[in-house]
Amino acid sequence: MNAPIAPAVPNMEHHWLPFTNNRLFWQEPQIFAKAEGVRYWTPEGREILDGASGLFCCAAGHARPEIADAVHKQLMTLDYTPHFQRAAPVSFEFAERLAGILPEGIDRVFFGNSGSEAVDSAVKICLAYHRAKGQSQRTRFVSRNWAYHGVNMGGTSLAGMVNNRRDFGAVTFDAVHMRHTWAEEQKFSRGQPETGADRADDLEEMCKLYGGETIAAVFIEPIAGSIGTIVPPKGYLEKIRAICDKYGILLVFDEVITGFGRTGSAFASQEFAVKPDVITMAKALTNGVIPMSAVAVKREIQAAVIDAAQGDRPELFHGYTYSAHPVACAAGIAALNIYRDEGLFERAKALSPQFLDMVFGLRNLPQVVDLRGYGMLAGIQLKPGATPGAKGSLVQRLLFDAGLHIKATGDAIIFAPALVTPEDDMARMGDVLQKVLGRAD
Ligand code: PLP
Repeated sequence: MNAPIAPAVPNMEHHWLPFTNNRLFWQEPQIFAKAEGVRYWTPEGREILDGASGLFCCAAGHARPEIADAVHKQLMTLDYTPHFQRAAPVSFEFAERLAGILPEGIDRVFFGNSGSEAVDSAVKICLAYHRAKGQSQRTRFVSRNWAYHGVNMGGTSLAGMVNNRRDFGAVTFDAVHMRHTWAEEQKFSRGQPETGADRADDLEEMCKLYGGETIAAVFIEPIAGSIGTIVPPKGYLEKIRAICDKYGILLVFDEVITGFGRTGSAFASQEFAVKPDVITMAKALTNGVIPMSAVAVKREIQAAVIDAAQGDRPELFHGYTYSAHPVACAAGIAALNIYRDEGLFERAKALSPQFLDMVFGLRNLPQVVDLRGYGMLAGIQLKPGATPGAKGSLVQRLLFDAGLHIKATGDAIIFAPALVTPEDDMARMGDVLQKVLGRAD
């Protein structure tokens, strides 16, 4: 135990925490006061291993001086510029760097500040594209059960996680949902399940039911992250791509979690060798340290929208005060430098077998009912408790007490260590999981 870092219990009255049971939190606060490498420290100085890269964003670990220096330098050079009819050199540089790692041809980049904004921006870009192509009847969107696409209005409409949409029906638009791809027979599949590609036929059915010509886009998380890591069955993404092509529907891969090496390639699109038309990204875009997101689109999508606009008006009436914030761009370039210089996408691929060995080694523990994983992302499904989500919440707390930070979602926990995690720290994380999930109750 180190010396205290901050007051153990701050005044918690005023900050309303998101996606949190605030009453429970007030009773049992779980607070981080410091972070470095793959470790957090509580205010009292207790060390906690980071098994979730923060919230799947700090791929290169915490407190990277390279990023801090770049941010400081940018702040003192050009701290802010609007991007409505103005721009800064740094955003063009960052977009060009991203184009260098994105799938070939998906290289026109629109910036926002969060994954949710990226999703909503992508929705609007898809509508603008079809309108520009004289297909303004394409107003319907397709998503999947269990999907998470952020919490803004577009993402809430696309949401397939019930609690994220139940109370907000008044603000949602026309989105229809395919089935998710998980099935009982896939239990304990390591990597891509062998069965389940036929679930892509749901899209064909929807095209018949609603008319493929009414559908603007299909949104897919290549690996469904927030529900607890659902890996796409072999052949599934390919089938979805083919059906989109058949009906002229845009395919959007939401890579907010899977982007930047999580699967062992820069993007899951490259890992699974399926090219969408649009990719959304956030989180590790800046190593999580400055809020930022991006939507990358195929060249022809941008060209269609730009070419269709008349006169001097902006071609796309959409953007944010902080779109392409220069400080976020500087952080992003510094993060990309680290990913490149340290070969972190390759490292993720090399580390994945050890990571998945450790995850699948939990198979026979009393609290484990399913395991799923790909690259450096894994879901551990827990034996359900008295009410849905109770076991996830309990296990997350027990892991925190035992020195491991992991994200719970319902009765699953999501394990996603930083791509820089040393092998011995990875083994330590495994030991904590063994201990906690080995409990009988
Ligand atoms: N899309 C996906 C696939 C995500 O996993 C998330 C967040 O976890 C989002 C969108 C929303 O991102 P943000 O929380 O930055 O708005």
